Amino acid sequence: MKSQYLHSGIRIEDYERYVGAETVERILDKSRPFQDRYVANVNSTYYGGGVAELLGPLVLLMNGLGIRTEWRVIQGNPDFFSITKKMHNALQGGEINLSDRKKQIYEDVIRENSLRNYLEHDMVIIHDPQPLPMIEHYRKRGPWVWRCHVDLSCPHKELWHYFVPFIEKYDAVILSIKEYMQNLKTPTLFFLPAIDPFSTKNRELDDQEIDERLEHYGIPDDLPLVVQISRFDYWKDPQGVIDAFKIARREVDCTLVLLGNVATDDPEGTQVYESLLDCQEERIIILSRQDTALVNALQARAAVVLQKSIREGFGLTVSEAMWKGTPVIGGNVGGIRYQIEDGVNGFLVSTVEQAAERIVTLLKDENLRREMGEKGREKVRQNFLLSRYLEQYIDLFNSFETIYRLNYHP
Ligand code: UDP
Repeated sequence: MKSQYLHSGIRIEDYERYVGAETVERILDKSRPFQDRYVANVNSTYYGGGVAELLGPLVLLMNGLGIRTEWRVIQGNPDFFSITKKMHNALQGGEINLSDRKKQIYEDVIRENSLRNYLEHDMVIIHDPQPLPMIEHYRKRGPWVWRCHVDLSCPHKELWHYFVPFIEKYDAVILSIKEYMQNLKTPTLFFLPAIDPFSTKNRELDDQEIDERLEHYGIPDDLPLVVQISRFDYWKDPQGVIDAFKIARREVDCTLVLLGNVATDDPEGTQVYESLLDCQEERIIILSRQDTALVNALQARAAVVLQKSIREGFGLTVSEAMWKGTPVIGGNVGGIRYQIEDGVNGFLVSTVEQAAERIVTLLKDENLRREMGEKGREKVRQNFLLSRYLEQYIDLFNSFETIYRLNYHP
């Protein structure tokens, strides 16, 4: 069976070269019952951050399979996003003063969004805490799923208790890894995120294209590049990266590039970026730019990529760099542990000193970099390409079929 890809762009068949014909055929077969069904995704930003990164290609692939899949983005004022960012931080273990005023603003903005959005789809997928309460305002026509991408290993208790009544109205919860499992009445599933190998960010670039991007931003590559690419967010520990680099360069000459962006739903980003600017010098380059091809060029050209997060739901940047054959040093947390096998295809670290030591080890050993890089790419090919993620959603739709018919259309 051929997918009826109505849009220009990547089709599931294009994945055959990476995952084989059998996998592609299986996905096509499984998706057949969902032709012309309607699916809605709702999140809080069009760009910046992993959720938007995933939704873009996933929604297109689903439409290519004939599943009528939409992506809606909620609107909110700065107060709302300041509150939801605090909630995001608290879900990852930070503090929050959960006042009635905050709850009121949060719920009011979501109610307004619910008035503007008709969600009469066969399936609704709500992403992350920002639009979570939307479920309060609809009569369900099919299953609603809450897909939470953040690191839930130790959520703030009071906030979690406030969220539970909303969450338990959903038909299923999807988390990235089993360590984030919470005590909920709602069935919980685990989907590790994945990358789109055909995107501007991940497609193969030739040397000339890489040179052009680096030159455009005046990034010298006469010395090995040590790179971290992340939203400007304290959880990504950009300061720790600079400190580790400063220790490492006592032993090996290198250049650090910290590239970051600020998502529209993240009001803290600018402050984090500005707090780093004093650290800039000739060999410490800190850039705030949204340039996808530059992300690709840096991940491809880097000798070492860091993702020294303190908390990390998954960390798409890790798979992105591994896919380019670049070894990654990652924080020993959350979803990063599922991508990096310590000492095999990269290194896991818990301190600045360990990160510095690993930078030195990798920069001094080209063979090790190549070996780890090759294993990293293979790990991503087998586990973290979007075809696998798509298939998990289709399996979920399938498993809902019976319940959906029984409960919603008796
Ligand atoms: N990203 C980007 N430009 C930047 C910083 C990040 O395009 O300057 C992208 C990055 O390549 C990745 C996503 O944003 O695709 C971040 O996802 P991740 O899961 O690593 O972290 P999150 O931001 O969701 O916490």
